[in-house]
Amino acid sequence: MKILFATAECAPFFKTGGLGDVAGALPQALAAEDHEVAVILPYLTKIPSEFQAAMEDLFYDFIQVGWRRQYVGIKKLVRQGVTYYFVDNEDYFGQRELYGYYDDGERWAFFCQAVVQLLERFDFLPEVIHVNDFHTAMIPFLLKEKWHWVQAYQKIKTLLTIHNIEFQGAMDPQVLPELFGVGMERYTDGTLRMGDAVNFLKAGILYADAVNTVSPTYAEEIQTPAFGWGLDGVLRSVSGKLSGILNGIDYQVYNPAADPYLTDHFSVDDLTGKARLKAQLQKSFGLPQDAQVPLIGIVSRLTEQKGFRLMLSMMDELLSADVQVVLLGTGMPEIENGFRYYEGRYPSKFKADIAFNLRRAQEIYAGCDLFLMPSAFEPCGLSQMIAMHYGTLPIVHEVGGLKDTVEPYSPITKRGTGFSFKDFNPEGLRYAYQQAVNLCWQDHETILKMQKQAMTTDFSWEKKATEYLTLYQSLFA
Ligand code: ADP
Repeated sequence: MKILFATAECAPFFKTGGLGDVAGALPQALAAEDHEVAVILPYLTKIPSEFQAAMEDLFYDFIQVGWRRQYVGIKKLVRQGVTYYFVDNEDYFGQRELYGYYDDGERWAFFCQAVVQLLERFDFLPEVIHVNDFHTAMIPFLLKEKWHWVQAYQKIKTLLTIHNIEFQGAMDPQVLPELFGVGMERYTDGTLRMGDAVNFLKAGILYADAVNTVSPTYAEEIQTPAFGWGLDGVLRSVSGKLSGILNGIDYQVYNPAADPYLTDHFSVDDLTGKARLKAQLQKSFGLPQDAQVPLIGIVSRLTEQKGFRLMLSMMDELLSADVQVVLLGTGMPEIENGFRYYEGRYPSKFKADIAFNLRRAQEIYAGCDLFLMPSAFEPCGLSQMIAMHYGTLPIVHEVGGLKDTVEPYSPITKRGTGFSFKDFNPEGLRYAYQQAVNLCWQDHETILKMQKQAMTTDFSWEKKATEYLTLYQSLFA
């Protein structure tokens, strides 16, 4: 099958979170099964120079973005069986970060139009275009409403994956005539409208041939007002084409036996390297080097979503236990500052590294005993899977992908791959946290058994790629 994967970010070129990881791994897994896979993404000047040097300039052209005529350069790179097309426009994507600009609507409108308008000129005409999140969600709309007369496009099927429904791309309605060069009909008849805005994600949900999210539980949750961010009604109305497929993690990148970021390694048969990495981690954070004390790690964006307000409200209590906690993350200033405050208050127990640091992230996944991820909502979550693969048992809120990936510890069978709580409140978090910490102190044998169970649970992309393929094929049934 011929699949074009359209995405805002993609590892290893640049990523800010889970979408980048998925875009890095899923196309590779599909290509390994002999499918023809291409990825189209923006060209950012901060792409590592070795990749830039390997790119070929395929062609350049000008496209209409409403009344504006804009330059588009297409660069191409083939890597591990996947063709990557980079959309280059210095003004929109050049010396910039990926998100957070006043003209984001225009940038993604440009990107979607570049993909659709130039598709015929690539040496790759797909059977399926797989779009992701709001940035690329206008592509199915453009194919069906604006470019439907292009014969080559008429057979193309589209899939939208929602990685996080919080981000919807709500834009001024004038983007339709001004940037997309279409009339206001689909706004005035309500199709593209949410409140007083054009909603890119809603367009994707309604126009894509199928919609999926990144875990079966999240696919159910977003159809409820509590998790739907206003789109739950729209999603219920298309529930027949909505499903959930769990993300995997890339075992080539995340491998405790060969992780290039680690100075020591370990495997399920020999965990002695993990103990050494724990000591190194304690040292690098300036914590007492104590092999017994449960070391709890956090690697995360520091946002409301990730449950840190709840955690901050209980810090004194959480740190009154005999534990050490190390945190790596960046995000909302008040959350960052909250953690800085507690670092000052508990210097021998709690360390907060307010940074984005891939090496340190791996050191935490590898060197800790427990991994705390109390997300208020979590579409899938990769961090808990990475942690489990490194034998670090997650403490999670039973929600979205956390519910689908972590088997909670059962005191009866003494099995499980982590600890979880149902109610998102201090009692809930306290319950799972105490259960985890107590078990670390009291029953090392069970912890070891759980670590091995976690490390041997299959989170690989191969299985997930097969599920995606079945979904692509169902579009032609
Ligand atoms: P989300 O996509 O919602 O941020 P995920 O758990 O799906 O959460 O994916 C987060 C990814 O980003 C993981 O690979 C995690 O290790 C990485 N990450 C998050 N924060 C940092 C950080 N401060 N430094 C390094 N890596 C980080």
